[in-house]
Amino acid sequence: MTGFGLHTGPACDKRPLGPLAPVRAKRSGAEAALPESRGDGKPGAEESPDRRFVCVFCGRVIASPHDIIEMNGSSVHEFFNPEGALFRICCFSRAEGCFVSGDPTRAHAWFGGYSWRYAHCGGCAVQLGWRYDSGAGGFFGLILKYLAEGL
Ligand SMILES: [Zn+2]
Repeated sequence: MTGFGLHTGPACDKRPLGPLAPVRAKRSGAEAALPESRGDGKPGAEESPDRRFVCVFCGRVIASPHDIIEMNGSSVHEFFNPEGALFRICCFSRAEGCFVSGDPTRAHAWFGGYSWRYAHCGGCAVQLGWRYDSGAGGFFGLILKYLAEGL
């Protein structure tokens, strides 16, 4: 008992780092939690930052959540095709597991200014969505029900 309580007094009064404190506190908290989760067993199985969307038919890795982009203010869009079927698609800046086919066309284009081709799974070749291109660039619109969350 050497009176450490008295020594913390001035430190508590001195708080120039106040605005930074919340940020630092969160980071140190997250880091502190990591060793505990590692100690439980397999690391990162539940908290993997690199989860991927995979093809529901063959399991091939198709796209990363990190590549989800917004088009016209939303990353998810619902469309009816000419036959009246509803598609819910998500927009990706890229889709590593897809290949495209067909000639670019603007017929029934859902996104103004873009032409489209078919986008297929690179593993089983099922059509997973569409590739959209314009003069400024392009993106993939992939049908959500054909994507599963892989590890
Ligand atoms: Zn597939």
